[in-house]
Amino acid sequence: MTDGSRQLEHVVVVGASLAGLRACETLRTDGFAGRITLVGAERELPYDRPPLSKKLLAGEWDGDRIRLRKPEDVAGLGLEMMLGVRASGLDLDRRHLQMADGSELAYDGLVIATGASPRRLPDQPELDGVCVLRTLADAMDLRARIAEPATRLVVIGAGFIGLEVAATARARGCTVTVLEGAPSPLIRGLGVAMGAAVASVHGRHDVELRCGVQVRQIEGADGKVTGVRLVDGTLIGADVVLVGIGVAPDTEWLSGSGLTLRDGIVCDDTLWTGVPGVYAAGDCARWHNRVFDPHDDAEMRVEHWTNAAEQGAAAARNLVQVAAGEAPVPYESVPFFWSDQFESRIQFVGRAHGDDDVHVFAGSVEGAFAALYGWQGRLRGVLGVSMPKMVMPFRALVAAQASWGEALEKARTLTS
Ligand code: FAD
Ligand code: NAP
Repeated sequence: MTDGSRQLEHVVVVGASLAGLRACETLRTDGFAGRITLVGAERELPYDRPPLSKKLLAGEWDGDRIRLRKPEDVAGLGLEMMLGVRASGLDLDRRHLQMADGSELAYDGLVIATGASPRRLPDQPELDGVCVLRTLADAMDLRARIAEPATRLVVIGAGFIGLEVAATARARGCTVTVLEGAPSPLIRGLGVAMGAAVASVHGRHDVELRCGVQVRQIEGADGKVTGVRLVDGTLIGADVVLVGIGVAPDTEWLSGSGLTLRDGIVCDDTLWTGVPGVYAAGDCARWHNRVFDPHDDAEMRVEHWTNAAEQGAAAARNLVQVAAGEAPVPYESVPFFWSDQFESRIQFVGRAHGDDDVHVFAGSVEGAFAALYGWQGRLRGVLGVSMPKMVMPFRALVAAQASWGEALEKARTLTS
């Protein structure tokens, strides 16, 4: 196979998690018989992250249960595995990767799937008990720290990580306070009103959720965290503090490489970076999603499971097709995510926008409900809280750029 300039004999996939594994599997199912090297900074075989804040954190599941594939199935892919090795640089002209251990690796095709890492507060102190949650190691550490029901947990950030951990820790008996700088929780994912409605389940379970508060600093004594000081002087005592204030794409190692970086690796609509043989996928990829044309947010980076799985496959497929002289296929997809918090299963298809019109069409925001999100007469998304049958039927409608009227009609059919 050739991409016009080079035979595709060796594909390197950087990032041994969901998107990276899906890329390797797709290469094989699509008939690529050459060498594939999977490079991963973590030592573990690819594992699933959603349970890290849910069943695994709750102590119900262990590390073995969350493997994405059995070791023998990974072995069956015939990969050269480089685990516990971090890529530290990329030379696009020579088609070489530099590794943090000083070695180099040549490639003909490259899929970058390095995901994202937790952001830190400015001047975040190195104190025992101050945690983040991204990896299995982070989750096992946090799980041990919240095992004692008398634990006082303060969560900074009412996003997905913050609220899922709050729910799991509260269910284990911990006293939980969540601090959010924005006026409402989950604004980025769901908007102000629906974010507040979704998070109301936390109040019903005695999680203290304080929005619109500014953290001054995390305080400690003798090297151990003691609490969180707010700008207004209030001190909230804590044995454990989880900082869940979002993630940044893991692209620092690519700076200066010549790839375009702008809150992620900038790709076209086929996940191609613009450099022959180099594609990106998953949390680290920013691409043009034509489903949302002509809205101003059609260029997007999505930080959810389904997107990483789909993009890993799509990037690998396009790499192989272009190398074979065939046309690549645009990756056009309606984002989907779910979140479990106490008894609520939250599901969302599409994309929320600050100015969206929101219409609750089933249930009540005090409990289970479903809502349409629209903008400029067009359906953009659908939210369901413990209403699984009300969400997925709309994915095709968002993809088809359905009108608000068509969405209301579909909602009427589903609820009649
Ligand atoms: P990642 O899973 O972040 O993997 C990237 C991999 O690349 C990592 O293993 C990393 O170590 C490695 N890497 C980074 N830099 C380098 C380098 N330079 N060299 C080599 N390797 C490198 N989504 C949902 O839709 N629903 C959920 O309920 C949900 N729950 C979640 C719960 C938690 C606790 C977390 C953390 C995420 C959750 N997500 C959920 C999001 C989902 O897990 C992510 O979107 C998904 O893991 C992204 O996959 P990825 O392969 O793109 O990146
Ligand atoms: P997130 O969803 O981006 O939420 C971070 C939250 O912290 C935002 O509400 C943010 O508000 C707030 N924040 C930022 N700075 C703050 C500060 N100084 N003080 C108080 N609040 C602050 O990110 P996350 O919850 O950390 O999750 C990390 C990643 O894991 C994301 O990629 C997420 O998608 C993924 N994840 C997904 C799921 C799921 O899909 N179910 C579950 C867990 C994790 P602003 O927006 O105003 O900055």
